[in-house]
Amino acid sequence: VLQIRGLHKSYGELEVIKGVDITAHKGDVVSLIGSSGSGKSTLLRCCNLLEDSQEGEIRFKGEPITWSGVGPHRRPADAKQVLRIRTNLSMVFQQFNLWAHMTILQNVMEAPVTVLGRNRAEVEEKARHYLAKVGIGDKCDVYPAQLSGGQQQRAAIARGLCMEPEALLFDEPTSALDPELEQEVVKVIKDLAAEGRTMLIVTHDMNMAADVSSHVVFLHQGLVEEEGTPDEVFGGTRSERLRAFLSSTR
Ligand code: ATP
Ligand code: MG
Repeated sequence: VLQIRGLHKSYGELEVIKGVDITAHKGDVVSLIGSSGSGKSTLLRCCNLLEDSQEGEIRFKGEPITWSGVGPHRRPADAKQVLRIRTNLSMVFQQFNLWAHMTILQNVMEAPVTVLGRNRAEVEEKARHYLAKVGIGDKCDVYPAQLSGGQQQRAAIARGLCMEPEALLFDEPTSALDPELEQEVVKVIKDLAAEGRTMLIVTHDMNMAADVSSHVVFLHQGLVEEEGTPDEVFGGTRSERLRAFLSSTR
């Protein structure tokens, strides 16, 4: 579903992504791990067209979604494409980004109604369904500040799901949470994986990566240093860098 080929991304002089290839087939859960500054968030942001890139391409369902082509032929995505991509490839951010002045139900309904122009009553039904699915069906009418961190993160996931995307991008979905709350979110992600949703997850949580992924990618300074199944990456022989990284996260 999602193919990243030879991607390069620079911020001015600073080259952050230096030629990355990643493929996620339908139903794959790909975890991106690596030290701070290795380019994980930047990669997700490129997939969602929040950033441009200088070389290489990203395809989503076969459609080139980034700026594709080379040099003067490289072109930006138009507004329609941006909307289409973001609709089918929802991103769940680290800091939830819930609107404080809206109830949880309104938060989840907002984008499908105002951005996609869907029928309000149908969206409400879906929103209630997804909130129940992530275990906070009783919180529809409260405001974000009245929820715990884990509940807010689950509301943010429900909001992503309410767009009914083909794939989801998660940037550190559990990093702001206590270990207990983290388990709630891990469970939701596992349920989504069991349904065959395609997911690309940036995480510092190696237990979660080992637990939910079909494929783990270790990024080091903008390059894929090592990748494989969780067993391959977390067990057995590995590069010095991965070894050093894994021992630093314990
Ligand atoms: P972390 O684990 O800390 O979240 P990361 O792997 O997600 O790290 P990125 O956020 O992708 O790392 O950042 C990669 C590099 O790009 C860093 O060196 C960062 O300073 C730089 N960078 C990120 N965003 C910008 C920006 N908007 N402008 C300039 N440099 C940026
Ligand atoms: Mg990051």
